[in-house]
Amino acid sequence: MEELIKRAGLEDIERKVMADKRLSFEDGLRLYQAPLLAVGYLANLKRERLHGKKAYYVYNQHINYSNECINLCKFCAFGKPKGHKEGFTLSLEEIEQKIKERLQEPIKEIHIVGSVHPDLPFDYYVEIVKMVRRLRPEVVIKAYTVTEIAHFARISGKSEEEVLQILKEAGLQMLPGGGAEVFSSRVRQELCPKKLSAERWLSIAKLAHQLGIPSNCTMLYGHIETIEERLEHLIALREAQDETGGFLCFIPLSFHPKNTKLSHLPGPTAVDDLKTIAISRLMLDNIPHIKAYWIMLTPKLAQVALSFGADDIDGTIIEEKITHMAQATSPQCLTRSELEAMIKEAGYEPVERDGLFRAVTKRVV
Ligand code: SF4
Repeated sequence: MEELIKRAGLEDIERKVMADKRLSFEDGLRLYQAPLLAVGYLANLKRERLHGKKAYYVYNQHINYSNECINLCKFCAFGKPKGHKEGFTLSLEEIEQKIKERLQEPIKEIHIVGSVHPDLPFDYYVEIVKMVRRLRPEVVIKAYTVTEIAHFARISGKSEEEVLQILKEAGLQMLPGGGAEVFSSRVRQELCPKKLSAERWLSIAKLAHQLGIPSNCTMLYGHIETIEERLEHLIALREAQDETGGFLCFIPLSFHPKNTKLSHLPGPTAVDDLKTIAISRLMLDNIPHIKAYWIMLTPKLAQVALSFGADDIDGTIIEEKITHMAQATSPQCLTRSELEAMIKEAGYEPVERDGLFRAVTKRVV
């Protein structure tokens, strides 16, 4: 590997990685131009310094309450206008049924996200959290992206702080990291002009952290953004993390063009996926976990990504709509044994975690 790093001219970056020194924007640009295996090697050094051979997964359940959306972002196959034949909105009773159907399973996280709905009231969202907490007192409730939180503030007339406090009191423990997309205002104007600005996304995420609600963070890549815009996005997240320390995990989201208004684009290659995961690990020195989201990457590439900087492969999931409406080829669920076998075959030690990345010590089969 020394020869590979030397040939790639990355010895100075390797020294920085070994000394836990922060990488610059220019370092990130050089890494994107370097051979994949050299970048992967450096990311794996960092990954193993942080997590050794551990690779995390969670036994979780996804609830997508609605896809009826007023934003209709160009990269999204999930959001539909109200009345569209593929549109759906679950009633509280239907959501309750989905939770009750799986009460016997040792689920550790319930992940609830939807759309920017045209007319559901704020109470609906609060009631979902209260109901899940009542039915599942022990589970980590991870719900509502920053985009949804901004929407709730608008429809309720409350401040974002009040919205977060009400949801926290109802049982919300964590926000998923969606809605960040790419922070570039050029990209947002072109692809999702109705979505909240990057500045607002970051300020609401930081507010949640200050209120004791940690979150994940994301970047949707592989559409019209430049490499420079990706790196600016990563650095903005890194700076926010310096302020609050509230991001638990970064999730690079590989763009799926099918069924979107960008279906003419090819989407990222496997090399781009692996390089982006690796460079994220190297740039985001202050975010503990990097996820290889198997739903988007496929289980096979997620398995490889564990050697390219990722230390988490998300979870069992069961029913996922957001990526599958973009015709993702991955299955909709993996069992705990399948996830563990994937991790072990890749040379890592599976660690079951909960939504807050705490290792599960008392395991129920
Ligand atoms: S990404 Fe979110 S806000 Fe945009 S269309 Fe899809 S569901 Fe709506």
